[in-house]
Amino acid sequence: MKSFENFEYFTPTKVIFGKNAEQEIGTLIKTFGAKKVLIHYGGGSVTKSGLLDRVCASLTEAGIAYITLGGVVPNPRLSKVHEGINLCRREQADFILAVGGGSVIDSAKAIGYGVANDGDVWDFYEKKRTASACLPIGAILTIAAAGSEMSNSSVITNENGWLKRGYSNNLSRCKFAIMNPELTYTLPDYQTQSGCVDIMMHTLERYLNQSGNMEMTDGISETLLRTVMKNAKILKTDPNNYEARAEVMWAGSLSHNGLTGCGTDGGDWASHQLEHELGGMFDVAHGAGLAAVWGSWARYVFHDRIDRFAKLAANVLMLTPTDDPTQNALAGIEAMEAYFHSVGMPTSIHDLGIDLSEEQIMTLADKCSFGCTRTIGIVRKLDTEDIANIYRMAK
Ligand code: NAP
Ligand code: FE
Repeated sequence: MKSFENFEYFTPTKVIFGKNAEQEIGTLIKTFGAKKVLIHYGGGSVTKSGLLDRVCASLTEAGIAYITLGGVVPNPRLSKVHEGINLCRREQADFILAVGGGSVIDSAKAIGYGVANDGDVWDFYEKKRTASACLPIGAILTIAAAGSEMSNSSVITNENGWLKRGYSNNLSRCKFAIMNPELTYTLPDYQTQSGCVDIMMHTLERYLNQSGNMEMTDGISETLLRTVMKNAKILKTDPNNYEARAEVMWAGSLSHNGLTGCGTDGGDWASHQLEHELGGMFDVAHGAGLAAVWGSWARYVFHDRIDRFAKLAANVLMLTPTDDPTQNALAGIEAMEAYFHSVGMPTSIHDLGIDLSEEQIMTLADKCSFGCTRTIGIVRKLDTEDIANIYRMAK
């Protein structure tokens, strides 16, 4: 088992963190050479809060032209991406400012690829081609969750077949990310908690790997997980707690900018693949979908990495180890599920309000394995049959 594998750590995003961080957006975006900006946003939270108006006013004050495109939905759609590409081309926008969460930022990244490359942007998400450029993107984050503000990835849902697919490329990394924890006060509790699960999963997916133990990388991951769990609980009863909002917001970025995977094999990612099919077919909140499948995935694979699951139990869930590692690993999985329950997150697909039929399980497994052409996961490589078994367990 290898630890400290060679790695590249590339985080070019300028982070502007704290109260009023969004105030100077006009001046900031000018320093990145923007002449005409597409302001991209979601379904209305930024209009309701007044954030969009403040952003527009700041750009006007700085003498920057802009156009707007709202209507991005959670599990952002390819049709909106095409709309954005056409708009940017017609209006000759040279910078995209995403104001919102992971869905808006991911949609902005896809538009950025689409404008800067010929052909259909979906080809990149189908891994048929590699993008050679992307319009510059900046983000004003309104939810701590996906980590897209510092990640190199983007996840889009194609309504034709309801396929949810990701594409990772450093070209799309945000030039800047403005993070004011106060902007997240208006989040409904379910979105806050779902976001916190996603943050945890970006760390857990990397932590549960086939690499050797590492002091620094594992330690960062364990602290990050404990911090998010503690502060997510505080936010249940005290949603306007600045410190708690700030802790999870910063954790969200660090969990997905590559830091928690440095020197490892990159991690497992099967839970994300399993969730992507649920998100594509049933439009569930991403973090909630992850919580719904994680326990079943963990029980299915933990025998292949008992030591690692036991380490999670001891160092994150703070369970006192017995001299039976298998028991320790299982106790950790149970404790994690109990935590999800305690913050109102699902631990089964049924909890998401979906009653999966056997036919739907087979469809999900077929889609997830790209029609039986790939395996997912690294703790244990999972083929179509394994994937169907996990959906059955999580049902
Ligand atoms: P999101 O889908 O961007 O937003 C979720 C909901 O929260 C929306 O309904 C949004 O409403 C609302 N919302 C956001 N900020 C708010 C605020 N301050 N106050 C009130 N409501 C607010 O959430 P997300 O979890 O950040 O993104 C999920 C997507 O990211 C999924 O498609 C997931 O697969 C993807 N993802 C991407 C990466 C990556 O690295 N690119 C990683 C993991 C997941 P409005 O629309 O009205 O604003
Ligand atoms: Fe995620």
